[in-house]
Amino acid sequence: MKIYIDGKFYGERDAKISVFDHGLLYGDGIFEGIRAYNGRVFRLKEHIDRLFHSAKGILLKIPMTPAAVTEAVLESCRRNKIRDGYIRLVVTRGIGTLGLNPNRCKRPSVIVIADRIQLYPPALYQRGMDIITVPTVRNLHSAVNPAIKSLNYLNNILAKIEANNAGCEEAIMLNAEGFVSECTGDNLFIVKSGKLLTLPLSAGALYGITRQVVLELAEQAGMEVGEPNLTRYDVFNADECFLTGTGAEIVPVVKVDGRVIGSGKPGPLTAQLVAAYHGLTKVSGEPIYE
Ligand code: PMP
Repeated sequence: MKIYIDGKFYGERDAKISVFDHGLLYGDGIFEGIRAYNGRVFRLKEHIDRLFHSAKGILLKIPMTPAAVTEAVLESCRRNKIRDGYIRLVVTRGIGTLGLNPNRCKRPSVIVIADRIQLYPPALYQRGMDIITVPTVRNLHSAVNPAIKSLNYLNNILAKIEANNAGCEEAIMLNAEGFVSECTGDNLFIVKSGKLLTLPLSAGALYGITRQVVLELAEQAGMEVGEPNLTRYDVFNADECFLTGTGAEIVPVVKVDGRVIGSGKPGPLTAQLVAAYHGLTKVSGEPIYE
């Protein structure tokens, strides 16, 4: 595998960054998780835009233009002959001193890892997921804003540990007010009385790119969509529930905190959206890396 770091490609063993990089020392940096389908990078512009918005959020000046970052992602796919893969784009604050001060870091580092994708087991998509709500509360907007896709992911990791300890792959995180926020690495949707509802970004959800695509697909299909605040009670009494994320795509959820959701099987609107999503991602022909 060839890994891009600051304009050059390195083999896996040689792809290294300094122990003085504040990305390592303080989680001071940002990232994107991107997917390629048959050599087409899915929603690349949206990912690059979100990366630059995250950068602005932490006053990090990416030392490349959006077009150059886009090209680094595409070139990483070409060099690694990635048809269907997962791309991790990382920008660290760069090498500094042991103090916190980001102004001491001279130049942010841009890293692209284009790898194979690790998927949830296919049975989970057919059967649906069983998830729980975990005690770890989503970061406050006024503390570490969850809209910033930062390298500081301990909030999500703590929640993921709680999910794993309970034998679950994913978990619902509530915000400090007790409203449903999102999952540890996925956005959450419910269907209630034919309406598709997802949490508002103000509840502490990431501006998920899959979330946005699903909202667009639902609107195109004539579904009524909304983004209200929801409590666990709303999720328990939903007709259908599913999660969205770049890696996961759309995963049905059939049980939450021991409550069976709807019929206990992946629902019809979920299936319709899964089919529409696959319609966008499944493209035939030679890989063209765009
Ligand atoms: N929420 C969190 C916390 C995430 O880390 C992610 C990305 N894995 C998502 C939601 C889903 O976002 P996207 O659809 O852009 O991958």
